[in-house]
Amino acid sequence: MSEVYDVVIIGGGPGGYNCAIRAGQLGLKTACIESRKTLGGTCLNVGCIPSKALLHTSELYEAAAKDFEGMGIKVDGLSYDLPKMMEGKAEAVKGLTEGVAFLLKKNKVDHIRGKGRIAGKGKVEVDGPDGKQTLETKNIVIATGSEVTPLPGVEIDEERIVSSTGALELSAVPKKLVLIGAGVIGLELGSVWRRLGAEVTVVEYLDRILPGIDGEIAKQSQRIFKKQGFSFELARKVTGIDKTDSGLTIATEAADGGKEKSFEADVAIVCIGRRPYTDGLGLETVGIEPDKRGFIANDHFQTSAEGVWVVGDCTHGPMLAHKAEDEGTACAERIAGKAGHVNYDAIPGVVYTHPEIASVGATEEQLKEQGRKYKTGKFSFMANSRARANHETDGMVKLLADAETDELLGAHMIGKGVGEMIAELCLALEFRAASEDIARTSHPHPTMTEAIRQAAMGVEGWTMQA
Ligand code: FAD
Ligand code: NAD
Repeated sequence: MSEVYDVVIIGGGPGGYNCAIRAGQLGLKTACIESRKTLGGTCLNVGCIPSKALLHTSELYEAAAKDFEGMGIKVDGLSYDLPKMMEGKAEAVKGLTEGVAFLLKKNKVDHIRGKGRIAGKGKVEVDGPDGKQTLETKNIVIATGSEVTPLPGVEIDEERIVSSTGALELSAVPKKLVLIGAGVIGLELGSVWRRLGAEVTVVEYLDRILPGIDGEIAKQSQRIFKKQGFSFELARKVTGIDKTDSGLTIATEAADGGKEKSFEADVAIVCIGRRPYTDGLGLETVGIEPDKRGFIANDHFQTSAEGVWVVGDCTHGPMLAHKAEDEGTACAERIAGKAGHVNYDAIPGVVYTHPEIASVGATEEQLKEQGRKYKTGKFSFMANSRARANHETDGMVKLLADAETDELLGAHMIGKGVGEMIAELCLALEFRAASEDIARTSHPHPTMTEAIRQAAMGVEGWTMQA
């Protein structure tokens, strides 16, 4: 035990590595412990990045197969090469995880491989390929992320019954694919395999898809996904899966305990959410008790134990990479005595399907629940010139603003590329803009972003196109 660190971070995902880089920039002596071979956490290794790589290639393939001809582009003998697609995905992951290692080095952060365990105040034990060691530190940051929520009675084998991790590695396109859960992972990974030819059935416990997304947008997206070939079995729960030589039989019953129905499949993806991962972390040695769902509570990232901080998926809030990143950065700033802060009202969410779904701020349901008076502005991409020119007219923009002050409260969109467009509305929320500020801001023509401006005009009823 030689030198005392200012900060030891357990976990090298977006929460941990951003915390480490910022701590290094602020001149703190920092170590980041990661048990995987590579840095980047769930996001870079088995989450955001590999899923987006496959979403991109499969979207291009489907466009070539289904849309090109209608636009006057002839493609003969179109086919896909799954191993090559997987290679492209692996290349993106490799480049990015190596990039994180480079950034840690550049910012003088010690990257220590192994499993970290808190061993009382100011002590972290690491068990890694180079043996065991104990680090001494003034601050510990827990950034251990999350893991797949298991479905009771269903064993994930990562071959036929897979989590998102197995679903990113399938060696062949399943003929019949069942998604258990109509959340973000199900719809994204279901889209990948549907585009490549799988027949996809989604079994969802609730009577709607994408809980948490504005209801009107979720309904519209369900209609679009259905048109694409997804089959939805809502208000239905999986009661068991039988493995046979020829495949899987998935037993379900209505969520209210009613009618039973079974589905045949080659592959099933269990995607019913994720839960905090804090196994073997030694929380008891510093008196931290996670809540019933396993989350570690925090007040400005400080846990109940002095000198122990927490960021990312293993604490409360949306399980998103950019939320973990924002928390990691702000946490390092707090440790350095600065005023790090995260505005939880302005964290966007994007579902990277086609079309994409993007939202930030309050949903209409939340405003109703709060009893807040609001005005709504909507604009369909059907009336947007760029969308029409590009034959990408599915979707809409919906803005919610305070009825009295006109302050923007929420933005919800479905449409081609809205995942990029949402950043404008995050900025608007950060600056507490009024819908009129957006309506009077020049937007380039012809772009899909004009639909945002038109929706903002619609809040006061002066939309120009309709
Ligand atoms: P993680 O990324 O989970 O990182 C935690 C790290 O800690 C892991 O690498 C783990 O190995 C390590 N660790 C755990 N315990 C220890 C220990 N004791 N010692 C040492 N190391 C340890 N979010 C988005 O915003 N956009 C997306 O498009 C998106 N797509 C996703 C797609 C999929 C398929 C999945 C599964 C998730 C996706 N997410 C997405 C969610 C995103 O990946 C997470 O919100 C994000 O990775 C959380 O970051 P984190 O740093 O809190 O945890
Ligand atoms: P989710 O919470 O998005 O969706 C899970 C779905 O499963 C819900 O609709 C839920 O009602 C349903 N469900 C729960 N129990 C069920 C059961 N027994 N039977 C049938 N349905 C059931 O979770 P996810 O899709 O697994 O994603 C996990 C996390 O990863 C999310 O928090 C998400 O934020 C994150 N993620 C984000 C992105 C993105 O930002 N694009 C992509 C992938 C994952």
